[in-house]
Amino acid sequence: MKAVKWFGAGDVRVEEAEKPKIRNDTDALVRPTSACICGTDLHVYRGELLSVPGTVMGHEFVGVVEEVGPSVKRFKPGDRVISSCWIADGTCWYCRHGYYTQCVNINIYGMGPVYGESLDGAFAELVRVPYADTVLIPAPENVPDEKLVTVGDSLATGFEAVVNAGMRPGDFVAVIGCGPVGLYSGMFARLLGASTVLAADVVPERLAVAEELGFAAVNAAEKDVADEVRNMTDGVGADLVVEAVGRSVEPLLKAVETARRKGTVSVVGYHLHEYSIPSGMLWLTEKKLIFSIGDPIRNGETITRYIQHNRIDPSKIITHRIKLEEVPQGFEMFAKKQALKVFVKI
Ligand SMILES: [Zn+2]
Repeated sequence: MKAVKWFGAGDVRVEEAEKPKIRNDTDALVRPTSACICGTDLHVYRGELLSVPGTVMGHEFVGVVEEVGPSVKRFKPGDRVISSCWIADGTCWYCRHGYYTQCVNINIYGMGPVYGESLDGAFAELVRVPYADTVLIPAPENVPDEKLVTVGDSLATGFEAVVNAGMRPGDFVAVIGCGPVGLYSGMFARLLGASTVLAADVVPERLAVAEELGFAAVNAAEKDVADEVRNMTDGVGADLVVEAVGRSVEPLLKAVETARRKGTVSVVGYHLHEYSIPSGMLWLTEKKLIFSIGDPIRNGETITRYIQHNRIDPSKIITHRIKLEEVPQGFEMFAKKQALKVFVKI
């Protein structure tokens, strides 16, 4: 079968790969019909996270069940499914309490050995899904792949950014970073009753999408986000700030500055490094700092219900539609921020 494999920083190739097989009773084999390039993939693409050369990439996908192991009860061949990017066993203490992203056997497709065993991903004609009864989400009928494909990662992360942070109707919400996760956070904030969504980035094309979605767009290369928010809130600050940039301490500190006293900073950017944070100031101002990882296993069915009933359309941010053979070029465009969301038809 054809698959997109990682060989090193910036080195992604379309090659022949061996078809996966059922290995454990709880496995399923799924034939991906669509997938997206996700921001998380970029950490591997750039070589910030080292994968195993030859690993198949891709973890945001929709597909059809091809085969199931003897213990799989919820799904059968022919079922259309969305996969969570996170693999969780469904049985440990954390899973039993609904904290799937902290599963003791947590893993993710196509990212190498960062969580243990390196699992092949979904930029392929077939993918092995461990713990299928937990990891797969039923795809609602009559909803196209384009609207469902991000449920398994970036859309669930946008949901988490707002819901886990306890956003309340009427809140002034500021979003720092207009990549897919930031934009999805803003979409959910609007849906759940934010009075204002302000979205900041330095990429004009991304700000244009933010504006189309009805957000107050701020070009952070020209204006200070915290100042802009204070100007709009009588000097108070935002009730909730979503930090959706990651990778360094600066956006996190800017988010803390942008939040009002006793406000909340919801961190969903991907942070691989340790920083020192202004703990004294955080205490004095009683700001809450919440770190969240999107949990499609816990929230996937709720999110698909919003999509099915046309309350949210995640496909609005897709800027490029490509074939499996074009994924290496898709990565190049996405890494250079020439593409916002790349949809791959498999
Ligand atoms: Zn678990």
